[in-house]
Amino acid sequence: MTRPGRTTKEKPPFEPGLIPVPGALLEWRDSQHFDRWQDRPCVLCDKPTPMRSHSGEPVHKACAEDWIAANPAEARLGRFASDIQAKRQHDDDHA
Ligand SMILES: [Zn+2]
Repeated sequence: MTRPGRTTKEKPPFEPGLIPVPGALLEWRDSQHFDRWQDRPCVLCDKPTPMRSHSGEPVHKACAEDWIAANPAEARLGRFASDIQAKRQHDDDHA
């Protein structure tokens, strides 16, 4: 062990970005929204979905958007949010 560079065992937290206004679409571009291993019942419509929210709730993106439109006050608490807008690609060189 020389110096702690990066932790390889844990991936960084999946942080939510902006909450879309009611009626707007979520931006879920990150592959972490898609569970390629298994479908789970959507928390809103109960049908299986591979989609996950930032907090890991199984939910269809469209259901989440509908939920935001139907629950604008609660939506502001950040249950479902868009991805953080990446200013640049994951460019991790510290050169
Ligand atoms: Zn659903």
